[in-house]
Amino acid sequence: MIEKSKDDDSLLIKVNPQDNVKIVVDAAGLKAGTEIADGIIAKECIPQGHKILLEDLKKGEAVVKYARVIGYASEDIARGSWINENNIIMPEAPPLENLPIGTEIKELPALEGHTFSGYVNSDGSVGTKNMLGIVCCVQCVEGILNIALDKIKRKLLPQYPYVDGIVPINHNYGCGVAIDAPDALIPIRTIKNLALNPNIGENIVISLGCEKLPPDKLLAGTDLDAEVIVLQEELGFEKMIETIIEKSRESLERLNTRRRDNCSASKLTVGLQCGGSDAFSGLTANPAVGYAADLLVRAGAAVLFSEVSEVRDGLHLLSPRVINEEVGKKLKENIAWYDRYLNLGDVDRAANTTPGNKKGGLVNIVEKSLGSIEKSGSSPIVDVLAPGERVSKRGLIFAATPASDFVCGTLQLAAGITTQVFTTGRGTPYGLAMAPVIKISSRTGLKNSWDNLIDIDAGKIITAQATYQEIGEEIFKLILEVASGRKRTRADYWGIENRMCLFNPAPIT
Ligand code: CA
Repeated sequence: MIEKSKDDDSLLIKVNPQDNVKIVVDAAGLKAGTEIADGIIAKECIPQGHKILLEDLKKGEAVVKYARVIGYASEDIARGSWINENNIIMPEAPPLENLPIGTEIKELPALEGHTFSGYVNSDGSVGTKNMLGIVCCVQCVEGILNIALDKIKRKLLPQYPYVDGIVPINHNYGCGVAIDAPDALIPIRTIKNLALNPNIGENIVISLGCEKLPPDKLLAGTDLDAEVIVLQEELGFEKMIETIIEKSRESLERLNTRRRDNCSASKLTVGLQCGGSDAFSGLTANPAVGYAADLLVRAGAAVLFSEVSEVRDGLHLLSPRVINEEVGKKLKENIAWYDRYLNLGDVDRAANTTPGNKKGGLVNIVEKSLGSIEKSGSSPIVDVLAPGERVSKRGLIFAATPASDFVCGTLQLAAGITTQVFTTGRGTPYGLAMAPVIKISSRTGLKNSWDNLIDIDAGKIITAQATYQEIGEEIFKLILEVASGRKRTRADYWGIENRMCLFNPAPIT
């Protein structure tokens, strides 16, 4: 609900009629002394995205946004004051016991007839790109791989126009680690499942020869037919480079014969993420992405949302949408595991928020979470994946990953996403080599300054130039175009590729 202040043209938003704060829209902020309405006068200058209090609060009374308690007044606060991290106390996270499961299941009507043009794999999955993956068994080989890769990318790759690129699946794992520790399962299955991503048409595996994660352990349980190169069996530096180039040439020859086929949109696996969020992310970009997520689910696709520390405080709002008790149990187990993981480091989910989030108007993780979960739309949650697990169902799925952009990105790729949609308010140039990343800005100011990095501006929703449904439709259509290779994301145009970052909660020796 957008309103103008009374004595100037400053715009303010009241997200829900029950809220006792309004959000300042203008980039210049709200000037001290401005009367916003009903005799409420801004007591101080309040920056863009931040909150002005609409009623007097006694110490301990609730600050309400999205019709939810985002915190409690740490002192008596007069109306017209700026609510920020210094005068608000964070509520406890919702307890995991007695979370309602399956009480608000709303099946959405099917959406027929949407297709995209993708690369069909032998296992039935469909890629949006046709790429060669080069998997390292251990970090020791990365220096050699990088030298070979530089030559391959410059001299070889341009000869194969139907190949979209080469993805090095390199990492800091493989040796010097407690390979049998229970949580080692996470990095090991992540590397394995990265190699199985549908956008990878062929793989080459590079082993050192004495590591704890040898090729047979890495490939166990998969039917990957990958060429294996063992550096300790090669005769010195030049031979190593030559072998990697030669095996790559053979793979590129085969990949270059592949062509796209028309496929149902149900074959898409789309990941959702946010990064560099601000107070507008939860009002514009994330609800628009949520609408697009519903369209994808209605078209039969798999849609993954993640970021445990950003759903933790909204869990009681998500759990009623979990399809059954079995999936509910998986949700609780994964969240409990993450609570313990954070506890071990003597922190909790509050460690998530960044200085940029706070500058952008998000006072704490509760407020950030309530905006973040908007990405999930409204469909039932049909499955929960532990970190690094691969998707096996269609519909909306919670992939339990850290919120860290590059770690979440890596784990979603391991889960099998073939396209990612990424919302940002503060701005991040993040990109992935393995899958296209569609960037959605929460503010028009960001789109204006970063036009060549942002694909769609959801900031227009604030100024009522578009509805979140219209932007959601636009995102859905762009996903189909990008997945078909007919349009390139800004990140792909510039070749922006963040390196993969494994999540390894297990000990290093
Ligand atoms: Ca993130």
